[in-house]
Amino acid sequence: MTDCLFCKIASGEIPSLKVYETELFLAFLDINPCSKGHTVIIPKKHYQKLEEVPVEEAKEMFSFIYKLVKVVPGVVGTTDCNIGVNNGKFAGQEVPHLHFHIIPRFEGDKGIPIQGLVRVEVNKEELPVLAQKILTAMQNPIAQGSNKENPIEWRKPKEAKPTLVNNASPQQNKENTPPPQQEKEEKPTKSDEREWQEFNLKEQDKDIS
Ligand code: 5GP
Ligand code: ZN
Repeated sequence: MTDCLFCKIASGEIPSLKVYETELFLAFLDINPCSKGHTVIIPKKHYQKLEEVPVEEAKEMFSFIYKLVKVVPGVVGTTDCNIGVNNGKFAGQEVPHLHFHIIPRFEGDKGIPIQGLVRVEVNKEELPVLAQKILTAMQNPIAQGSNKENPIEWRKPKEAKPTLVNNASPQQNKENTPPPQQEKEEKPTKSDEREWQEFNLKEQDKDIS
């Protein structure tokens, strides 16, 4: 994107203090650091948000970030850091080119944890239903706006049927069995279930041609 600040940094048109680079990614020091060593990581290709990145590139990006996390805090004399992305304008993204922040943290730096970013009132009684909704949506990723360029694994409607507890293997379930009363609470209403299945069938008809 010609008019994008971070595309210009990626191409070298705007200088930056580079700390690491591969063919696909660049890490440089933030111009206005929150702490010593504050590093910005970008894909060289223009994506605005994380979900636009093809999955293989996202995996490589994670490994790029991982390598930096192992090194940057130590270089500035600490062991800890926050790693984050302001993913979209409601989340505080100012530069509309996907970037991760590594912000080294120091004892007594008076900063806050990530959970301190926002505190919205949430009805905790609704959490089991919400968890089921997300679980169902995760089992039907086609409903998540996936597209052919950036596909997420496709499942047949039969397999996509919501489960009451979770999708883990019998062994995992054994280790992580929820209390029995949760099963009742988490059951989606019939209409919720039907709504998802109808939506998915429509989407799948569109996609498999
Ligand atoms: P955002 O709020 O979009 O997640 O953060 C953008 C970050 O990019 C900010 O921390 C800001 O200081 C940094 N930044 C903005 N412009 C430049 C620049 O031209 N060079 C560098 N190195 N960092 C920048
Ligand atoms: Zn860009």
